[in-house]
Parts: sequence; structure tokens; C-alpha cells
Amino acid sequence: MDKKDIEILVRRRIQELGLDMAGKKEYIIAANWKMNMSEKETKKFLEEVKGVPLADNIKVMIFPPYPYLHLFKEQLRYEKITYGAQDVAKEEKGAYTGEVSAAMLGDMGCSLTLVGHSERRSYYGDSSEIVAKKAKAALAYQITPVICIGETLEERQQDRYKEVLKTQLDAVYRELGNMLEKCIIAYEPVWAIGTGVIPTMDQIHETHKYIYQILNAYGITDNNIRVLYGGSVNAKNVQEIASVNYVNGFLIGGASLKAESFKSIIGLASEV
Ligand code: PEP
Repeated sequence: MDKKDIEILVRRRIQELGLDMAGKKEYIIAANWKMNMSEKETKKFLEEVKGVPLADNIKVMIFPPYPYLHLFKEQLRYEKITYGAQDVAKEEKGAYTGEVSAAMLGDMGCSLTLVGHSERRSYYGDSSEIVAKKAKAALAYQITPVICIGETLEERQQDRYKEVLKTQLDAVYRELGNMLEKCIIAYEPVWAIGTGVIPTMDQIHETHKYIYQILNAYGITDNNIRVLYGGSVNAKNVQEIASVNYVNGFLIGGASLKAESFKSIIGLASEV
């Protein structure tokens, strides 16, 4: 084995453990507010969260409803916290009533957007192909898509989750090719979202490892791609999940709505 092979092996291990080059595991802590919060509550939340010291290995992202993005633009200007929308139009501009384009998100100071959240997929018909187009539209404006994937309870029980996840990722890869490297993946088993039920640590490990295998098969070996876990994460379980290999952070719904609980999750993750 020569020096280059050893270097490749070390890089692979670093990727597997989700470590930065200094050897500390990095975490993205992302908040999905869904259709919650008022203007008053958002202002209060931002007052409580901004200025919170963030360890070097922690990145915080918040996805509020569209109407409050301007508050983030105004209040988070000098903060390390980034923010984005919960969805984006697949079209660039034009007669698409009710839609919000990637360019508009850019104007609001967004550097991120969710795409393919299971609620969008099941209530609004966002197919994997639509999700892929939305991700592409975001990337065209330098907005990082956080692409949500995940299986239903039935698909898990029928042991079809691997095929489901691969189909969801394949559709995105077909549209984006190597640009997929510029995205973040959020694995959210639908049966864990808002239910208080979480998979076992072995299930999370096995599934995240499988997602990395798919990404590696596309030729994405770069340490830049992150796979987050989402589904009933809270202050009680965050450290245990954070310790699982291949978990690079969290997408959090319910427990991100109160600044106190969100801040304690950030603190707990930075201790792992
Ligand atoms: C989500 O909706 O992305 C989510 C993970 O919600 P919760 O944390 O409430 O399960």
C-alpha cells in the first residue's frame, strides 16, 4: 500500500465518522418550523438565539415560513446562523401563482432551502422528479438544497426502505449529476416525524451507511456531502443519535420551536 492509498483510506474513515480534518465531528443543527410561529414569536426567538456562542464544529440553520424570512434578513445579519425556505419553485419565474422562486429566496438572504420534505411529497404531490427540479432551480442561484428523503412505516415494515431511498436519490442524481455534492441530504423516516418514535441506533446507522454507499456509487466521495437525521429529535435523544457514525446533524421540527429547547439541543450536540 503506497502513501496515496493510505491517504484515501484515512479520508474515507474521516468521511465515515463525519469528522472535520481536525478530528472533531461536525454537526448541522437545522430547524424546520413548518407552518408554525407568529411574527411576534419569531422576533422573540431570534432575540434569544442570536449571539449564542457556537462551537466551531456546529452549524445552525433555520427554515421559517416565507413571511418571516425578512426578519431573519434583518436580525441575523452578523450571525453565524444561516437560514432558508421550506420549499422553492422548480421554475425560474413567470405565471406560477403562489410559488416563490430561488431568485426571490436569494433576495431574502437565504442560502438554503428544504426540498422534498415528506409533508410536501405526501400532501402536495412533490414527486422525486419534482424535488430534483426544485433542487436544481435552487442551485442555479447558489442556494443549497437540503433534500429530504425517507420511507413510510409500511415501506420499512415490508423491508422496502432501501429501494425507496435509492429511487428518491437516483431521481435527484439523474437531474443534478455531480452537482448533488453541493446539496445536503436529510434522512427522515416518515414514521418518525412528529410521532415521538425514533428508529433504533442500529437502524439509523445502517440506513445512513446505506445512503453513503449510494452516494459513493455515484462517485461522490467528497467529505462535503452531509447526511442529517430527522424525526422526533429532542434534547433527550440528540446525544445518542449524534454518536452514531454517518450522522452529520439533525433536521428538527417540534423541538426547534422553542428557543430554550433548540439552544439546549445545540449545546448538547457540541459536547458529543
Ligand atoms: C420534520 O418535520 O422535519 C421533523 C423532523 O419533525 P419532528 O422533529 O417534529 O419529528
